[in-house]
Amino acid sequence: MSEIPFKKVPLISVSGDQSNSLPGFLGQEKSDLDAFFQSVGERPALRIKQIHRWMLQGVTDFQMMSDLPVGLRKALASSYQPFSSKILLHSKATDETEKLLLEFPDKKQIETVMMREEGRATVCLSTQVGCGMGCVFCASGMEGVQRNLKTFEIQEELLQIRALLGTQERISHIVVMGMGEPLANLERLLPALDWASSPSGLGISARNITISTVGLPKKIIELAGHQKPYHLAVSLHAPNEGLRNQIVPTNEGTGIGAILDAAQQYQKISGRQVTYEYILLAGVNDHASHAVELSKLLSGRQSHVNLIPFNPVQGLPWQRPDEESVTMFRETLRVRGVSATVRKRKGADIDAACGQLRREAARTLSGLN
Ligand code: SAH
Repeated sequence: MSEIPFKKVPLISVSGDQSNSLPGFLGQEKSDLDAFFQSVGERPALRIKQIHRWMLQGVTDFQMMSDLPVGLRKALASSYQPFSSKILLHSKATDETEKLLLEFPDKKQIETVMMREEGRATVCLSTQVGCGMGCVFCASGMEGVQRNLKTFEIQEELLQIRALLGTQERISHIVVMGMGEPLANLERLLPALDWASSPSGLGISARNITISTVGLPKKIIELAGHQKPYHLAVSLHAPNEGLRNQIVPTNEGTGIGAILDAAQQYQKISGRQVTYEYILLAGVNDHASHAVELSKLLSGRQSHVNLIPFNPVQGLPWQRPDEESVTMFRETLRVRGVSATVRKRKGADIDAACGQLRREAARTLSGLN
């Protein structure tokens, strides 16, 4: 396969000093923070609340937190940085999509994207470093999963983006569609989403939060039990077991039937219609007969299909279908009574398809380009 040169992304910032090793404030244990505030003669609960309030407003420089005593601001700035993650790359696409490559102290990197449209600001969150699901078309899973993100690390993704927004802007939507399988890290994701949707957190409506899963039936039921009206999206990608086994390997262990049943139960409990995502890979799953089969599979189930034309990934052999075949697929579903839309491509000039920036940055930063 021929080498595709690394796109010259409009680079907004690169954090040069990777040796700055002050601990991140947000990830500190409560007991450590208590000890810090007591050592400088301050009341922990009040001060922590004030600092969190500033961070929620996008202020991350301790020196700017004007309701803290000047001495405390200095002590904070010399003991902590606001986040444990550093912004390694920050790029902005022509359509205003922004993408961060974040690096944690253990050198693990993740991507967080923000898309703007019609007054909305949607953050696409990662939940794991890498991904263990092995979908054959996906850049995030090419080296497997390295670790789960912690709750505070997921919060940091949101607050890092919040700090980039102006005072007039706010994060209105979250899609958990970045790197990783969210339901494989549900335990740490849920507290982060509960915080994001609470009035004392980011105050984002729970109905504006979408969790996308490869389809883990037991975990879908567990999520339903959490009783939050989060929107569930299931990455179906194929209308039959044989084809799904080939492109989504975890299907061998779950099967489509159990996934659809769990999704239906989620719908019943949450009152939210489930979306089925369907990637379109030219010549693989995009034939009219696949659309017909998909419409039969979903008949009688209230559902919506979101078609995602494949975003090319360097090193992978799949092709993006042309617009005509995408429209044909959509219409074949629609005339059979299945509601279907095509996902718009955002941030194409900054490799916004998850997992790609991290791979390209690794090449660039190691001098390969
Ligand atoms: N693990 C979760 C969420 C992360 S991926 C899931 O499987 O849903 C979010 C969506 O992007 C999924 O539907 C995934 O299949 C899709 N996706 C991954 N790589 C893609 C690519 N190169 N082009 C288009 N869609 C892709």
